[in-house]
Amino acid sequence: MRTADASATPPVSPRPETVHAVITGAGRGIGAAIARHLHEAGMQLTLLGRTESALRQTADALGGAVRVAVCDVADSPAVERTFAALPPVHVLVNNAGQAESATLSRTTDELWQRMLGVNLTGTFHCTRAVAEGMRRARWGRIVNIASTAGQRGYPYVAAYAAAKHGVIGFTRSLALELAPSGVTVNAVCPGFTDTALLDASVANIVARTGRSEEAARAELAALNPQRRFITPDEVAAAVAWLCTDGAASITGQALSVSGGEVM
Ligand code: NAP
Repeated sequence: MRTADASATPPVSPRPETVHAVITGAGRGIGAAIARHLHEAGMQLTLLGRTESALRQTADALGGAVRVAVCDVADSPAVERTFAALPPVHVLVNNAGQAESATLSRTTDELWQRMLGVNLTGTFHCTRAVAEGMRRARWGRIVNIASTAGQRGYPYVAAYAAAKHGVIGFTRSLALELAPSGVTVNAVCPGFTDTALLDASVANIVARTGRSEEAARAELAALNPQRRFITPDEVAAAVAWLCTDGAASITGQALSVSGGEVM
């Protein structure tokens, strides 16, 4: 295991005048909220995802010159091609994700691979594409949207939780690898957040248990000690703060945005 030689470490660079941020899964939900917050912070944006129309909708709502890139983060060659065509990336937010629930006996190889592919391997692909550039530039921010499912267990989401726990391990190790360069790597871990992903989880509970939608939503909201769902804007505000100069010493952290569900 290598350790950094502090005396040989050149100083960290100042923040670039124009910061270019890539947000994956930015067509809706938490990713679209992160795009709004980073746009308000004056960053140039590239919105990445699989559905061009959704990305364009987010971009149009922001106005101005926002780039969109159509790419499946689980597809390694596609990620390499996509990032090779972009200008230098100073901020990467790995937000693209899917959460499918199933009992372990119903967890097929395909579901397992898909959960790991998008949530964990996708984070690896995109990060590998930018980390060396950030290290050389001696400034950068990598924020991985994990989940409270990366910090604790929930029944029926073993594949998703394994992937999100993996994202936190990846975050911690890379944070140490990049620490001497001043590049920070953190995970933001939302609790149940009001998006299409949550709607799908609720629909699944309704279909499997026959409970009403209202009861299913109340059951999930009750896991949050504040008895409510997190909003996409609350997650985005945490991401935007991690990108500020004031957060330069915050690295390798898994910040739970969950109303106290994890502490
Ligand atoms: P969402 O509304 O379903 O949005 C997910 C986004 O990811 C979509 O824009 C989707 O766009 C994109 N995406 C999915 N698979 C992709 C792939 N293979 N390649 C590129 N983009 C892909 O979900 P969300 O709630 O905003 O979730 C955002 C992140 O927060 C996820 O990582 C999720 O695990 C995490 N999270 C959510 C909650 C919650 O309760 N909502 C809680 C904790 C953590 P396309 O389908 O068009 O590609």
